[in-house]
Amino acid sequence: MPSAKDQRATKPATRIGYGFDSHEFRSGTPLKLGGITLAHDKGLGGHSDGDVLLHAITDALLGAVAAPDIGDLFPPSDAKWKGADSVVFLREALKRVRHAGYGVANIDASLILAAPKIGPHATAIRMRVAQLLGIPADCVGLKAKTPEGLNLENTALTHVVVLLEARGNPKKARKKTK
Ligand SMILES: [Zn+2]
Repeated sequence: MPSAKDQRATKPATRIGYGFDSHEFRSGTPLKLGGITLAHDKGLGGHSDGDVLLHAITDALLGAVAAPDIGDLFPPSDAKWKGADSVVFLREALKRVRHAGYGVANIDASLILAAPKIGPHATAIRMRVAQLLGIPADCVGLKAKTPEGLNLENTALTHVVVLLEARGNPKKARKKTK
């Protein structure tokens, strides 16, 4: 095992993370995407509030620092997370990123869904995600595509990549905090 000093010496200046998620549309639930609620006749079922974009961002952040993934940290089988605000997951991932001595440089996301159209909401989603990550809105890329040829009209999918950069003074990163 390398010592903490060795690890510090070899800490990469940047780290990349990738996240993927998918959820099925379901009637009778609000549609949450990127931490905002969109007007639509269906929402997303599955884990917590079904925010497929925040889940993929969370997994990208966790992956970038080789932390356990969202399903390990917040098991969907645990009733505690049913209907939970996905911002909670994102904040935990960000905390782990900061403790590892990194900050978010930028993210890029692709949303794949048949409806609703994301264009009119893209600015609001980007601004909310930027606010949650503590980065400028021009560091949040968001593309929306329809699931052409995928036969997934009732599903929302998201792919996210994130770039982390080492922060100058990772003093908290080296101390275990309770
Ligand atoms: Zn999810």
